[in-house]
Parts: sequence; C-alpha cells; structure tokens
Amino acid sequence: MPYWLFLFSTIFGRRMNKNRITELFGVKYPIVQAGMIWCSGWELASAVSNAGGLGIIGSGSMYPEILDLHVSKCKKATDRPFAVNLPMLYPDIDKHIETILKHKVPIVFTSAGNPKTWTQHLKDNGVTVVHVVSSVKFALKSEAAGVDAVVAEGFEAGGHNGIDETTTFTLIPAVKKELKIPLIAAGGVGSGRGMLAAMALGADGVQIGSRFVASEESSAHPKFKEKVVELKDGGTKLTLKELTPVRMIKNEFYQKIEEAYARDASVEELRALLGRGRAKKGMFEGNMEEGELEIGQVSSIIDEIKPAAQIVRDIVNEYEEALTELSSTKFKFS
Ligand code: NDP
Ligand code: NDP
Repeated sequence: MPYWLFLFSTIFGRRMNKNRITELFGVKYPIVQAGMIWCSGWELASAVSNAGGLGIIGSGSMYPEILDLHVSKCKKATDRPFAVNLPMLYPDIDKHIETILKHKVPIVFTSAGNPKTWTQHLKDNGVTVVHVVSSVKFALKSEAAGVDAVVAEGFEAGGHNGIDETTTFTLIPAVKKELKIPLIAAGGVGSGRGMLAAMALGADGVQIGSRFVASEESSAHPKFKEKVVELKDGGTKLTLKELTPVRMIKNEFYQKIEEAYARDASVEELRALLGRGRAKKGMFEGNMEEGELEIGQVSSIIDEIKPAAQIVRDIVNEYEEALTELSSTKFKFS
C-alpha cells in the first residue's frame, strides 16, 4: 500500500471506525451487552461478541461452578473478547474472581460495590476493569480507584439502580464533564437512535440490557421475553429504595409492594415480602405473577424477540441511518 494511502486510511479509519471503547476492548462496535442476572449466560454473551459487540456473562445469579461452566462454554463459542459482570454483593465473590483469573477472562465489569476492593488485584492479573455507577461522585471514585472505563447508568435502566433517579439524559453530560477515562452510557438505550443520542451526550459507547433480554440466546424464561415485548410505556417502576432500588414490571408482586407502602410497612416487612429468589422465580422460571421481573423503561419500544446478532446489526444500521438523517434533514441554526 502506498504510504499516503496508509496514512489516509489510518487517520480516517481511526476517526470513523474506532474509538476509545473499541480500542480498549478490542471489539468492532462500541456496543456492550449488559450483564444481567438470569438472562445473560454464555449463549447470549458469545453471540453478542461474535456479532462485533462486547458480550457479558452476568455472574450474580451463578453459583461458582455454574460460572466456571459458562466461561468455559463462552470460550469455546467465541474467539473474540467477552466479559464477566461481577456484582460486589455476590456472597462467594472470591470464588468468582478465581474462576475469572483461571480462565484469563480479559474484561470484568464490577457493580454494586466499592471499585477499590478488587480493581488493583484484577489489573495486576492483566484484566481490564470497568465499574458501573449511577452518579458523578461514584464515577470519579471509580476513576480514582484505577478502573479503565466507567458505565454510567441512568434512572431508565432495568434491575438494580441508583437511588437518586438521575436520568441518562442528565447523567451522561454531567459525568462527561468531569471524567477523563472512557465513558459508557446505559439506561434507556435500546436502539441505534438511542445509541446516537447517548454518543451525542458525550458517551464513547453504550451498554444495552433490556433489548438483549428479548433475544433468542438470552437465558430468560420465554414467558418473560414475551412479557417484555408486550410492555408499553409506564409498565415498569423503580421501587424498594429502602432495600436495593430496583426497576421491575408492575405485576401482582409489584402490587403487593405498593400495598405494603400504603400501610406504611417497615423495612423488615418489605424484606420479608421480597423473600429470597424472587428474581429467579420470575425471570428464569417464568412466574409472571409472583416473580421479580427486572427490565428497563426502554422495553416499551421492544416489539420482537430476535437473534442477538440481528439486534446488533439493527442497532448499527439504525445508528448510521439516523446519523445521515441528522446531518442532512434536521434543523440547523445557520
Ligand atoms: P447452559 O450452559 O445454558 O446452562 C448450564 C447451567 O447454567 C444450568 O445449570 C442452568 O441452570 C444454568 N444457567 C443458565 N443460564 C443461567 C443464568 N443466566 N444464570 C444462572 N444460571 C444459569 O446449558 P443448558 O443446556 O443447561 O441450557 C441451555 C439453555 O436452556 C439456557 O441457556 C436457557 O436458555 C435454557 N434454560 C432454561 C431454564 C429455565 O427456563 N428454567 C433452565 C435451564 C436452561 P439450571 O441448573 O437451573 O438448569
Ligand atoms: P436473592 O438473595 O433473592 O437470591 C439469591 C439468588 O442467587 C438465588 O436465586 C440463588 O439461586 C442465586 N445464587 C447464585 N449464586 C449464589 C450463591 N453463591 N449464594 C446464594 N445464592 C446464589 O438475590 P437476588 O435474586 O435478588 O439477586 C441475585 C444476585 O444479584 C445477588 O446475589 C447479587 O450478586 C446480585 N445483585 C446485583 C446487584 C447489582 O448488580 N446492582 C444488586 C443486588 C443484587 P438458587 O435459587 O438456585 O439458590
């Protein structure tokens, strides 16, 4: 290749097809599939990685030997990078760390805890570390703890969430203003247009959960996937702030929580009402009435269960389409 062509393609290639996130993870697209308990096992993670995004195994619902099995299967199913999400509340976290290091998992997304606890140990072992936060304060704490990137997740997101109800539209520019390391936006992103909006707000990439729950490869129960497809706007609510704030579908179990609030139930009563294994009952075993069904607001625009690779392709195409449309047809000040 002539030198001028090499220079041209390097400069423009870098500009158009690569950014800090694709380079950090070694992936084609800055699209991350969120680690989701009971929904993101090896089948989903490997499908997303094979499609050019970054797939994540959600280890919070996996006993240590199950995580070992899923990582082994994921390594066989893809030769591209993938990650494991490690919620720091997980009771046997040391065993999960051992599994991650044993299998040389290249990337770990930590969440729900202090990023100082494990970042250095993981990085000393060559792992790229990303931490999930819901505020500017914790984004900066994560940066100080030495993580390689931050996921900032807004109020729209499904499952466990920040207490302050800061929307993605507000959170991303606020974090962007302060943070030096790469920033991934999450919460309310489920399409190419959503991704473009997040990038316009300052994100280097997006993390998408709900859209991938309704994928063929997700390990969510088929009834839960159907429910996600049926949901309209207003179908979810962030609740149980006194325990761990969580966004879930307004089903019968949710109504019981509302009744408990109406009679001014104590934190202990709420904890007893939640009990153990509600998320598994709903999302994995398909009990749509009594289970805890964690999903984001963006479920209102999800209307089909698709293969994960198709979801990635659709996001990429819609992003490109919207970008062209914006530069040609939208309002301009001059
Ligand atoms: P997998 O490798 O997918 O599963 C192996 C083991 O992992 C099983 O013990 C299974 O649970 C468990 N598992 C699967 N996904 C998760 C998750 N996200 N979180 C925690 N544990 C998980 O191989 P299989 O051949 O067992 O399953 C193939 C597919 O069948 C699964 O990916 C899923 O889509 C579906 N499946 C559905 C189930 C359900 O709806 N109740 C149960 C199992 C599988 P377990 O020991 O409870 O079977
Ligand atoms: P529960 O306490 O209600 O139940 C624990 C569930 O996790 C059970 O369904 C159990 O499966 C499964 N499990 C997997 N590994 C273990 C283990 N080593 N010890 C005990 N249980 C285990 O928890 P939730 O369902 O509400 O939450 C599940 C996980 O999600 C938590 O363990 C935590 O890691 C994570 N989490 C993440 C948050 C975040 O990312 N922000 C916030 C809160 C929780 P089984 O029924 O087969 O025994």
